[in-house]
Amino acid sequence: MRVAHRLAGRNHREGTGGPFAAVVSVAGTGEIIAVGVNLVLASGLSGMHAVVVAQSLSQAHLGTWNLGGPGSDPVELAVNWRPCAMCYGAVLWSGIARLVIAGAGDEVEHLTGFDEGPMRPAWKEQLHARGVEVHTDVLRDEALATFREYGARDDAVVYNGGAR
Ligand SMILES: [Zn+2]
Repeated sequence: MRVAHRLAGRNHREGTGGPFAAVVSVAGTGEIIAVGVNLVLASGLSGMHAVVVAQSLSQAHLGTWNLGGPGSDPVELAVNWRPCAMCYGAVLWSGIARLVIAGAGDEVEHLTGFDEGPMRPAWKEQLHARGVEVHTDVLRDEALATFREYGARDDAVVYNGGAR
């Protein structure tokens, strides 16, 4: 999670995207498979959220669309906040065994101006039902500090691509 926080802060300061990052690792050993940051601004593609980037790079690296396939080690996804509506769906289909997030409340929307989309109230239970462990509030204050820093920028970009 510390890696995710560092990448998230650097990503928005470098101007490549929003203050979000994700790290995919082997759950048992912590070995990093791939990392991803929000690349919406850099790529011009609305779907290039950190979770999608990290999962896609992991799947490309391992040569499989299913990170939880037979014989594979359980894989963890660490993200510096709860996935948005799109990334939630991406997690469901990825084969991730464990989702670790810094927090899950609406603070991210209040502090950054981003719209995280219409999340299902039972999102966590739905993940559990599909075999995904969820751990929340890991290094939460660090995430909030990054979101505050981003929200204080005069040139912060909101979810629809327009400047505030
Ligand atoms: Zn997302």
